[in-house]
Amino acid sequence: MHDAIRSICADVLAGQPGQNADLEAYEQSELLDLLARFKTLILSNAVRHDPLTGLPLRYGIESDFNLCQKDAKRNRSLLYVVMIDVDHFKRINDSYGHPVGDLALRHLAGTMKRTLRSNEPLYRFGGEEFLWLLQCNSIEEAEQSAHRLLTTIRTTPIPIADVQPITLTVTLGLAQVGEQEELSSAVKRADAALYEGKNAGRDRCVIAMS
Ligand code: GH3
Ligand code: MG
Ligand code: MG
Repeated sequence: MHDAIRSICADVLAGQPGQNADLEAYEQSELLDLLARFKTLILSNAVRHDPLTGLPLRYGIESDFNLCQKDAKRNRSLLYVVMIDVDHFKRINDSYGHPVGDLALRHLAGTMKRTLRSNEPLYRFGGEEFLWLLQCNSIEEAEQSAHRLLTTIRTTPIPIADVQPITLTVTLGLAQVGEQEELSSAVKRADAALYEGKNAGRDRCVIAMS
């Protein structure tokens, strides 16, 4: 195979037409298949990740969720779906423009990713909403983790050229996932809790009733 490619390259560099045998050897090798599969992998990975924040998008959540749910059952731990929504984000766009809004979202995603444990998946769910799969041992631990995230975001200003650093806050809605519960049902409950948090004044977490 290497010989065929070397020979084809030598012919190309010398401005000669290639040898049929070399071309056949090249086409019959597994290399083309491997390259095609590699390209597919790169493309599907690019589709699954948000170019702005680098976070995975919602497409892969379902299978990750099923794995986390099994994991939680095996470890006798709790799994929470946490919906995260940036507070008054429209104001950021209105005051500073969409590009600064983009920058703020990217910075926020980085802050959140650094605050969460490496085994806690975080997704860009859409717009200025994120979804976090949190595993812990008790409701108190879930609350503690949520408060740690709220505090870090509140106290990490976003540096923006030529203007005062921007400080963002988020509101969190948590839903403890039942052993047999579907992702869509947990998301719905977490969303309802988030909505409650928004109505109660934002920059807080609300835990949904099980
Ligand atoms: P609330 O506290 O109730 O969540 O208020 P909000 O202003 O965050 O909510 P609203 O749904 O009114 O506005 C969300 C804004 O987020 C509007 C939309 O333009 C902006 N947004 C969503 N995705 C992006 C993005 O990728 N980049 C930028 N710059 N803005 C975005
Ligand atoms: Mg929103
Ligand atoms: Mg919002």
